[in-house]
Amino acid sequence: MADNDGLKNRGKTKADVKERRRAAENYTGVSLSTIGNYGFEAEMAAKNIENMIGAVQIPLGYAGPMKINGDHAKGEFLIPLATTEGALVASISRGMSVISASGGANAFVFSDMMTRAPVFRVNGIKHSREVMDWVDNHLDQIDAAVADTTSHGELQGMEFFPDGRSLYIRFSFSTGDAMGMNMATIASEAVCRLIEKETGAVMISVSGNMCSDKKPAAINMIEGRGKIAIAEATIPKNIVSEKLHTTTDAIVETNYRKNLVGSSLSGTLGANAHAANMVAALYIATGQDPAQVVGGSMTATTCEDVGGDLYICVRMPAVEVGTVGGGTSLPCQSEALQMIGCKGDGKAKKLAEIVASTVLAGELSTLAAQAAGQLGQAHKALGR
Ligand code: NAP
Repeated sequence: MADNDGLKNRGKTKADVKERRRAAENYTGVSLSTIGNYGFEAEMAAKNIENMIGAVQIPLGYAGPMKINGDHAKGEFLIPLATTEGALVASISRGMSVISASGGANAFVFSDMMTRAPVFRVNGIKHSREVMDWVDNHLDQIDAAVADTTSHGELQGMEFFPDGRSLYIRFSFSTGDAMGMNMATIASEAVCRLIEKETGAVMISVSGNMCSDKKPAAINMIEGRGKIAIAEATIPKNIVSEKLHTTTDAIVETNYRKNLVGSSLSGTLGANAHAANMVAALYIATGQDPAQVVGGSMTATTCEDVGGDLYICVRMPAVEVGTVGGGTSLPCQSEALQMIGCKGDGKAKKLAEIVASTVLAGELSTLAAQAAGQLGQAHKALGR
């Protein structure tokens, strides 16, 4: 499209969007009338999209209510889920009903830090050591550079990874209730300029992939990124048989052979049945960055037989969520956040506990369906 730059730089009003959509219709020869029939003010998305021509609608349902006993999420919640996968919401809802009947899920956030890891070109490992010494001895100046860029973000720590003529510094920031990726990036850039000026190291990229954003990465699985959130529940054996139509033994064995051994043999980062399903549906509903489903996909699901009852736990090392910023203030997403009492200041950890609890419910239901040999049947009945 020859005048693409011109279109991109125009305004973001409804009229601008309509004009741009007309241009796209003329260019492609396709009517975009449904895409053009969106239900919010175009200006509200001004910072979320360029070249806007409308909106894609994804069906939204709810699962639950689910009982959660968290530090921040306490009580019963109806969970908004956006998906096009038939049977998913029904399955998660079944898991929630079983967990609620068993006393609810315990869910907590164990760490809360957003990372950004710039890469510098240095003269060699001797120079790297000099840069590292300078950084270690000038933390006040570094904190001041961060404070110039954000009032909610604070540098909490850093790790050095020198290698040949490259030096990676993985910065960890607390980011309040924002997911924090813009915040951490802007603050890191300011710190990098200071380091460049004082040490002669040259920043090659503000993101040297040791961060690591939107890529499955062992460093995030081990050290965590965003929030490390863990949820657990114990399902009495009579509820396993009455509501899930299987046994504790069968679920534990399915988890062992599938999630633990199978994932290990296939080299999967994480060990779960389908954590990404719950993460994607909840992230899309609540205005999170959908690309960060990657972090959620690294969940480890464990199951144990405890005196005949089923103990199940999901450990999520990279729950990258916020309740301010990004897509959270778009009107539909904002309403979905309000459904779970997670809109705005002071709610990000609550949201992370709800994410982990939702993943727990989805894992339980799918493991039970597979243990009972019902997965294909359920999809046949509900999903096609
Ligand atoms: P953001 O919307 O860019 O920044 C959050 C804003 O909210 C800041 O201006 C912050 O102010 C303000 N704020 C108000 N109340 C706050 C509170 N209670 N806690 C924290 N901040 C508060 O959001 P972000 O989370 O940093 O970035 C999310 C966006 O980054 C998403 O759109 C995502 O898609 C995108 N993203 C960017 C990159 C990247 O490399 N830049 C990578 C992945 C994703 P102060 O800063 O003044 O405190």
